[in-house]
Amino acid sequence: MSDPVLAIHGGAGAVSRAALTPDAARDYEENLRRIATSAYAALAGGVGAVEAVTLAVAMLEDCPLFNAGRGAVYTSKATHEMDAAIMDGRTLAAGAVTCVHGVKNPVRAARAVMERSNHVLLAGEGGMEFLRGLGVAFEPEEYFHSEQRYAQLLAARAKDPLRMVLDHDGTAWPAQSHAPAAHPDDKGRMGTVGAVARDRSNALAAATSTGGLTNKLPGRVGDTPLIGAGCYADAVAAVSCTGVGEYFIRLCVGHDIAARMRYQGASLAEAGRAVLDNLTALGGSGGFIAVDKEGNLILPFNTESMYRAWIGTDGACQTAIHGEG
Ligand code: ASP
Repeated sequence: MSDPVLAIHGGAGAVSRAALTPDAARDYEENLRRIATSAYAALAGGVGAVEAVTLAVAMLEDCPLFNAGRGAVYTSKATHEMDAAIMDGRTLAAGAVTCVHGVKNPVRAARAVMERSNHVLLAGEGGMEFLRGLGVAFEPEEYFHSEQRYAQLLAARAKDPLRMVLDHDGTAWPAQSHAPAAHPDDKGRMGTVGAVARDRSNALAAATSTGGLTNKLPGRVGDTPLIGAGCYADAVAAVSCTGVGEYFIRLCVGHDIAARMRYQGASLAEAGRAVLDNLTALGGSGGFIAVDKEGNLILPFNTESMYRAWIGTDGACQTAIHGEG
């Protein structure tokens, strides 16, 4: 029997230490700690890695601080379109949803696709009809409304109607370019959420969930619901990403980490470093959390901050927003 290991993230981004009040930092870290310890307690009690990452991500989705589920950001049409994915490293079973709205916990929807359909990824109305038929919980649009998120949309549109913004982030991406254009007057972070876990039987799993980018075009699909990009798990490693999806998709970040370990014999730390370097070289911002079958954890990022909490084989919960990944 292995010691359980778990890590969660609440998004990478550009929140400088100076921009975050001590009260806000405490609020984030307390919520990250509460969620990590509760999912870890389930793992320690014997639940599997898939259930543990589902629990952790569902709790992060219920917390309005993060850009997923309840805290999802607005599209350019002032609607919500959420993405989520989950993967079981034992079997390579995977499920994902994209461009859904009203779904209370998109990670549970992704899990339903994994366990109760013959498909991996379901999109939009057809996906929602399938989920309703299964009794997956929906909430009215008011549940997802937040004045702060709406103000973010108005601020992004005011600067440039085509400008997409990472949740509260200081960097925006013009629609026709993959090159980041800095807008230092914005403060913030990326708020996508995710979890990776190794359970007592040594099985790995990963899950990721997001509202995407503020002011994104309706129909835009990021890395989060794409297996191998923003979420990946096999017998070697489990990975959950956060950052500008357009970069993570092209680098197949999640799969690349596991592939480097499998094909090159790289350690998790080496694979993570190489993939983060490639992301940086391409001009992408973000980070990821990953665990391997030995229970090693990495949480690297190339942004100023990444909200994160982790519990390694020593059983101690640690949280951080800034510093080294
Ligand atoms: N990766 C997400 C997306 O591109 C955004 C994020 O991580 O904040 O949709």
